[in-house]
Amino acid sequence: MPTKFVLIGSGLAGGLLAAYLGRRGYDVDLYERRVDPREGNIVGGRSINLAVSTRGIHALEQLGIAVDLTEAVAYLEAPSVEAAVSAANPQPQIIKARGDAIIGVDGAFSAVRQSMQKKIEKFDYDESYLAHGYKELTIPPGPDGSWQMEKEALHIWPRKSFMMIALPNPDGSFTCTLFWEFEGPRSFKTTKTDEDVRRFFDEEFPDAVPLMPMLLDDFRQNPTGSLVTIRCAPWYYHDKVALVGDAAHAVVPFYGQGMNAAFEDCVVLDDCLEKFPDNRERAFVEYFSRRKENADALADLAVENFIEMRDKTASRVFRAKKKLDHLLEGLLPGIYLPLYTMVTFTRIPYAAAARRARRQDRIVYVSLIAIMSILAISILLFR
Ligand SMILES: Cc1cc2nc3c(=O)[nH]c(=O)nc-3n(C[C@H](O)[C@H](O)[C@H](O)COP(=O)(O)OP(=O)(O)OC[C@H]3O[C@@H](n4cnc5c(N)ncnc54)[C@H](O)[C@@H]3O)c2cc1C
Repeated sequence: MPTKFVLIGSGLAGGLLAAYLGRRGYDVDLYERRVDPREGNIVGGRSINLAVSTRGIHALEQLGIAVDLTEAVAYLEAPSVEAAVSAANPQPQIIKARGDAIIGVDGAFSAVRQSMQKKIEKFDYDESYLAHGYKELTIPPGPDGSWQMEKEALHIWPRKSFMMIALPNPDGSFTCTLFWEFEGPRSFKTTKTDEDVRRFFDEEFPDAVPLMPMLLDDFRQNPTGSLVTIRCAPWYYHDKVALVGDAAHAVVPFYGQGMNAAFEDCVVLDDCLEKFPDNRERAFVEYFSRRKENADALADLAVENFIEMRDKTASRVFRAKKKLDHLLEGLLPGIYLPLYTMVTFTRIPYAAAARRARRQDRIVYVSLIAIMSILAISILLFR
């Protein structure tokens, strides 16, 4: 009998992992508590548009499903026996499933992880929330169906302690996300009436307001989401349980990498299962040791990028540094790689990318200081 994996959660990583495991010949049962979005039941204001980058595309390409994710369905099978799990669905109803191993792909508030916390005595767990929440808003297409702003761009309205961003959609609209403090004199909490909302937007985003005819409805109706970073260890329990994706390492969304990292987990776990086909615990151990440092590095990078986006993108020094980054990248191709390039457009492990960026920055700053000192000395000597 082939090994049976029970996957709890069919979000972004669950479907992909099912496809990887199915391809390797394992039996897979996939449990999801929400209704199938293909049946048209998308929760309003939670339809976030996701940037898939090199790591995510690689994971999809390995399966030849870069275009069609529903392919995972082809690998799913009926339940069989061994380790057991209960997953609540919204009715609420307890479903009992059995398999040789359970994979928690059930997101940031993972029930599988909570079970591991109870079971493993020295389970490390840390969750930290930003003081900011987020709310989705919409810029609809123009009258002719075209984009009302540059479509080949991520638009950012940096406002020091908060910001709004807008990402283009294929239908000509933009999804805007306001990242703003939950509490404080000006915050989600104090902005209650339509008048408050209108005043805040007129003051802070006057250029965007004319493009947002549904602003007040969106603001009222769309939920305010929270932003959490979750770190835990270990991500496995013997050969019986493992965690993948946000269940193991939720990060704030400012590098656009949470899903990409979750997809990368699937590639690495698949690789480890191939390496240790007869020893699932060793496969889980190796998967954890290869991913943990990188997930931690990404968590730090994502928070740092929030500060960068909301606070520094308006600064001249910051923009000069970005231009220098691009210049050096052009002059030294393959040698100098800006951090953003490494994270988004390569598969260099996150931790290695962060270390390399710090090294590069040190070299650039030391070189700049040396050049400026030489210039200053030359001016003094030849005056
Ligand atoms: C505002 C925002 C913007 C983002 N933008 C990006 C981006 O541009 N690029 C990017 O790479 N990432 C982005 N992310 C991160 C990305 O959404 C997550 O990293 C990704 O969804 C993680 O996938 P997952 O499968 O691990 O978890 P999820 O996608 O959360 O899926 C978990 C699934 O498990 C199900 N589930 C939970 N509990 C149970 C249970 N007990 N029984 C059965 N099913 C259960 C849930 O219903 C859900 O479907 C963003 C996140 C946010 C909040």
